[in-house]
Amino acid sequence: MKSHAKAVVIGGGVVGCSVLYHLAKAGWTDIMLIERSELTSGSSWHAAGGFHTLNGDPNVAKLQAYTVQLYKEIEEISGQSCSLHLTGGVMMADTPERMDFLRLAHAKGRYLGMDTELITPSEAKAMFPLMDETNFVGAMWDPVEGHLDPSGTTHAYAKAARKLGAEIVLRNRVVELTQEVDGTWNVVTEQGTVKAEHVVNCGGLWAREIGRMVGVELPVLAMEHMYLLTEPMPEVEEFNKSTGREMIGVLDFKGEIYTRQERNGILLGTYEKACKPWSPVNTPWDFGHELLQPDIDRIAPSLEIGFKHFPGIEKAGIKQIINGPFTFALDGNPLVGPVQGLTNFWCACAVMAGFSQGGGVGLALSNWMVHGDPGFDVWGMDVARFGEWATLRYTNAKVRENYSRRFSIRFPNEELPAARPAQTTPLYDTMLANNAVMGDSWGLETPLWFAPKGSEPKDIVSFHRSNDFGPIGEEVRATRERVGVTEIANFAKYEVSGPGAEDFLNRLMTNRMPKSGRIVLTPMLNEFGRLIGDFTIAKAGPSGGEDRFMIWGSSAAQKYHMRWFEKHLPKDGSVRIHRFDQTLVGLSIAGPKSRDLLQKLVDVDISTKAFRFMDFREMAVGGAPCMVNRITYTGDLGYEIWMAPAYQRLVYNAIKEAGEEFGLVDFGMRALLSMRLEKNFPTWFRELRPIYGPFEGSMDRFIKLEKNDFIGREAAAKEQAEGPKLRRVSFIVDAADADVMGDEPIWAKVGGKDYGTVEKPHGYGAPRFDAGGNEVRGSNAAEGASAVRGIVDGDWRVVGWVTSGGYAHYVEKSMAQGYVPAALAENESAGLFEVEILGHRRPARINVEPPFDPSGEKMRT
Ligand SMILES: Cc1cc2nc3c(=O)[nH]c(=O)nc-3n(C[C@H](O)[C@H](O)[C@H](O)COP(=O)(O)OP(=O)(O)OC[C@H]3O[C@@H](n4cnc5c(N)ncnc54)[C@H](O)[C@@H]3O)c2cc1C
Repeated sequence: MKSHAKAVVIGGGVVGCSVLYHLAKAGWTDIMLIERSELTSGSSWHAAGGFHTLNGDPNVAKLQAYTVQLYKEIEEISGQSCSLHLTGGVMMADTPERMDFLRLAHAKGRYLGMDTELITPSEAKAMFPLMDETNFVGAMWDPVEGHLDPSGTTHAYAKAARKLGAEIVLRNRVVELTQEVDGTWNVVTEQGTVKAEHVVNCGGLWAREIGRMVGVELPVLAMEHMYLLTEPMPEVEEFNKSTGREMIGVLDFKGEIYTRQERNGILLGTYEKACKPWSPVNTPWDFGHELLQPDIDRIAPSLEIGFKHFPGIEKAGIKQIINGPFTFALDGNPLVGPVQGLTNFWCACAVMAGFSQGGGVGLALSNWMVHGDPGFDVWGMDVARFGEWATLRYTNAKVRENYSRRFSIRFPNEELPAARPAQTTPLYDTMLANNAVMGDSWGLETPLWFAPKGSEPKDIVSFHRSNDFGPIGEEVRATRERVGVTEIANFAKYEVSGPGAEDFLNRLMTNRMPKSGRIVLTPMLNEFGRLIGDFTIAKAGPSGGEDRFMIWGSSAAQKYHMRWFEKHLPKDGSVRIHRFDQTLVGLSIAGPKSRDLLQKLVDVDISTKAFRFMDFREMAVGGAPCMVNRITYTGDLGYEIWMAPAYQRLVYNAIKEAGEEFGLVDFGMRALLSMRLEKNFPTWFRELRPIYGPFEGSMDRFIKLEKNDFIGREAAAKEQAEGPKLRRVSFIVDAADADVMGDEPIWAKVGGKDYGTVEKPHGYGAPRFDAGGNEVRGSNAAEGASAVRGIVDGDWRVVGWVTSGGYAHYVEKSMAQGYVPAALAENESAGLFEVEILGHRRPARINVEPPFDPSGEKMRT
């Protein structure tokens, strides 16, 4: 074993081997993988080996598609077969709601170039005759699904990596990790110490323990998982013989079941409701190539549904039940990337679908390590997406919830209950008493909307407009016409101070920093000129003679942004950065009467001239020391008021009392988001993400290329000079009873013109076939299915995608934001665009100016 390496990858499961392969392929050959036992000694060896491309996050779906396409490459390089069976598969819907879910997934697939198709239950049965199709209302066919040999695949990655120069050390446990002052890692193993520049945690079942070696509690938990294998079945053999094909994979939402052919029999796995964590606190180091005791009682309810839906399987004898552990993060997606607060410590763990995702994870992580950027939008699997609140017990509750709902629909207005409430503000009980429906905002309870007195404060979950529609409309109208108050504790808040603060922020941000007492809005870019942040920054009065800036940003991006800030902090200590989290909370008042209301609570002049739009001031509000921004996300006259939690009740009560004469209402986060829509304001992680440039994001006025050499300036200048390829636009949609939720395709009537924004189908997948084994192309016969398959329909073409939207209550319009080719972005013509909502293409029109207060006069008065 060598004593030095550029990077050490810990763990020889499918993920570690993929990371090793991708690092070697990217040109880092001075790398080694250290494995405690043999390759595949964690969860990889007993996997069912299924793979698919579908994922709730389109960006993760893209990486899954990459993984599947990669298998041929590693087979060729390594000479090792993965035993790939590209059979295709179907997802079966048993209710109209599940069919809506499939329509959404199918529509999303369009701009990803996925070749899915909505089909009837009978068409699905033709490819998997063991089902009773009368249990289902429809299905979605995905040609890029199948199964492989987990061990062969892991070894194929490993052999390919070795061929490219990587070293693999087996039977050698990493027992300790320490870091030198210069950043070098000491990887202490049973066979000695390796000095490494970078360490990657691919510990799978032991990833949590490896995290603890460096003082980090990763939100990952292993769950027991069972699948059964039947004896050979004559029906299967007969089907193979008569059609010349293998049976396809089937996913049954109702039963939380997946099933497929395995040799001459069937494999059937369950995500049972009564799920069980494995080793919830510590994973034993001596756990090896072992299986856990099957517990048939636990999966009996799922099997009961399974045998009803697939009666052909019930008759078969069960040959074996496999029960093995594998890991999950809170939302079921992996934990990938550099860990905030550490240098050159990387994660690629909690990969619950290693054979769908392992390749994509390896590619993104190796890009990140070698080139400084993952090269894709990997927010959906970024290790920074969870905060300190994701403790061991929180993780346990959330992972169990996620596992038991693995194939359940998550409605766009659905809040999940496990591990809540976690964090609350001092107003939590008051908000409940006000009949607030609360939501989870990065671990913090936040009012979403207020149910009418006497009614139960609860969402009726739906893909369509629901019971919050009326009350949110009331909140919006009262705020727009009088005044409203809302909690904004869930914003991220930071303070940057020190003699170097202004230079530091000027280097990071695209806009000029404000003068004392003023506010600016500013994006932040990475070196490649892509959007990685969007902030409100105020310059506070100097403290102890030093500059002090207050920064507000996206709540969910706190660790993501801290990681970036810390990476760029000057080494001389001239800049300090502090994240407040919930040690600073806030309230926002907005609407034409908000100034009159605030004036009653302060002892200084806040008239238009004395306290201008985009001013910042420290002042007492209702007797409490506060910071006040004259700005609001509603895009109206309004204020954000920030205070220590100990003062929040005092300020809120004062606002409520003073507001009575103005007809003050409480409004929630959903009303706030509705109001921002009618101002065409973007949101971080929806409209603004690292896949877009600042001019694509239509953030032009905040990009000051001439100010100084900020990070990403050169790339932004290039984007401006060449012209952005895409533009963010706002649409008014002729919707019926459902608004957009995000990720819907945008169609345009562009004739034969190809604007080149949508990826072409990858053309890699199994053909769909009928009961006779003949290939079928694109009938889309399912009831209510879109008649169109793919991304072109006559003169119409998918040219972009929706990022977010909803109903803009004050202007009474359904609105959507999204990206389209720049050449189309200013075309307000009717009849040019359609947005596909739940399988129905609805007319849509670009609205260049915001429909509410287009001149911005109201917010400036
Ligand atoms: C029953 C079952 C069915 C499944 N079915 C599927 C499926 O159909 N499709 C699919 O995609 N996925 C499936 N999975 C999940 C799949 O197995 C995992 O996604 C995958 O194995 C994760 O791989 P990994 O490399 O992250 O972790 P692991 O396979 O757990 O590998 C981690 C490795 O790290 C090593 N290690 C840990 N700590 C140290 C240390 N300190 N020093 C040195 N080495 C260390 C371990 O020995 C181990 O080999 C299934 C899992 C189970 C249990």
